[in-house]
Amino acid sequence: MSDLQPSSAGIEAVARAARRVLPADGVITDHARLRTYECDGLAHYRVTPALVVMPEDTAQVAAVVKACAEHHIPYVARGSGTGLSGGALPHKDGVLIVTSRMRAIREVRREDQRAVVEPGVINLDVTRAATPHGYYYAPDPSSQQICSIGGNVAENSGGAHCLKYGFTTNHVLGAEFVTPQGEVVELGGAAPDAPGYDLLGAVVGSEGTLGVVTSTTVRLVRLPEEVRTVLVGFESTDQAGAATSAIIAAGILPAAIEMMDALAIEAAEEAVRCGYPEGAGAVLVIELDGAAVEVAQEYDEVERLCGENGAFEQRLATDPVDRALIWKGRKSAFAAVGRISPDYIVQDCVIPRTALPEVLKAIADLSGTSGVRVANVFHAGDGNLHPLVLFDETKEGESEAAERVSGAILDLCIEHGGSITGEHGVGMDKAKYMPRMYDEHDLDTMQMVRCAFDPDNISNPGKVFPTPRLCGEVPGRHKGAHPLAEAGLAEVF
Ligand SMILES: Cc1cc2nc3c(=O)[nH]c(=O)nc-3n(C[C@H](O)[C@H](O)[C@H](O)COP(=O)(O)OP(=O)(O)OC[C@H]3O[C@@H](n4cnc5c(N)ncnc54)[C@H](O)[C@@H]3O)c2cc1C
Repeated sequence: MSDLQPSSAGIEAVARAARRVLPADGVITDHARLRTYECDGLAHYRVTPALVVMPEDTAQVAAVVKACAEHHIPYVARGSGTGLSGGALPHKDGVLIVTSRMRAIREVRREDQRAVVEPGVINLDVTRAATPHGYYYAPDPSSQQICSIGGNVAENSGGAHCLKYGFTTNHVLGAEFVTPQGEVVELGGAAPDAPGYDLLGAVVGSEGTLGVVTSTTVRLVRLPEEVRTVLVGFESTDQAGAATSAIIAAGILPAAIEMMDALAIEAAEEAVRCGYPEGAGAVLVIELDGAAVEVAQEYDEVERLCGENGAFEQRLATDPVDRALIWKGRKSAFAAVGRISPDYIVQDCVIPRTALPEVLKAIADLSGTSGVRVANVFHAGDGNLHPLVLFDETKEGESEAAERVSGAILDLCIEHGGSITGEHGVGMDKAKYMPRMYDEHDLDTMQMVRCAFDPDNISNPGKVFPTPRLCGEVPGRHKGAHPLAEAGLAEVF
């Protein structure tokens, strides 16, 4: 007997269509099992999906999406569910398409430095497969041991090494993609450029709102001859920020420059005993990679510039174990904050690097006046901040105060020429902040792109945009024609 609500005739029809092509255990309708998928990494939003499917290949994804299109059922793609903006939050009347059974690395082509991988492949597994060939996959979110390539593509994920090597978008050459009509198309390819509109560029970072990626051709990067990782202690974030600027101004482009402030260091020490300098107000983790001669020269210069900007301790990793320990402190920072606060918000925003000192000071002032503690962990080299706003949900008013501080930090970033997200995406969580960056026309124009792919608004609806517009959605909310449509330059579907 089906566990589905009798009213969900459309869902029943999609479940039947799914059962025709998927193995029996790949179609989940049992309520207790559905609840496993009720949230992503942003656990305070929870919605139980009406149906979960676990396809094993592209044809199965296409069949499910086609059935959704036919019955006007919304669907959401999900990789590993580590997203921090509620992007993979299910739709209560919809289908969750989980890609964790699509984990084949179809090809590693050493001769043209490419790999073709399925969407459920774990980020770090691409590097593991490429390493014997002398290559690795450069974009490395801190969640790389668990997050999927499909999720990375949808979020245009970044990581510590994106300062030098660029975000996911710089490493995706092609994708096999299921449109919201259930059609399988190829975008881009193994060659560096494709004529016509950059549709692949539109799909990367579209947070599952344009369709489902079912395979990706990624660029591999040659393993460097030498890597040096140095941990540098400063008395203040101002000094660490000045050292970062001095290094970049000197023409050195480290693979990574990561910063943590005193509160974040305290949390990391408690959690993983990473041996960061005692009494530091800030640390930098700086990684240099490349040809051995070049790295040696750059290291001398970095050491000098850090010293000139107030570094009181500099520790070069002596071996891979030591290097891993330095990185462990940084990479475990989000979770580590749980050691010093029962609850916290992981904020994600980006500013021009030169605005770092001013924005960090303003965040400290906000924290001081509100009494809400904020720990800072971030990719200093590219100005991507991750303020961790600490609170205790059991204490009256604390979660509201934390929300206010968290929103005010986004305003600060916008005021300083930055953006409301650096790498974690807009998802469900930040859709309400989009109007702080974009006016109504900007948002409508973006939605026209979405409508071109998904006129029926079934692919991850309710994410990214604050209010549904165009495509026949909630017409009462739409004020007048879009200026492009009015001018006869674009069509509203
Ligand atoms: C501890 C921790 C550290 C993190 N560090 C970083 C970091 O350094 N940098 C960073 O950028 N992010 C980071 N993240 C966030 C997260 O890991 C990334 O956003 C990651 O790319 C999500 O991958 P996922 O497989 O978990 O995707 P999910 O959470 O499952 O999904 C994320 C989004 O992608 C869409 N999606 C998933 N698969 C597909 C597909 N095949 N086709 C179309 N859309 C799809 C979903 O609908 C959703 O909108 C971190 C998260 C955690 C928990």
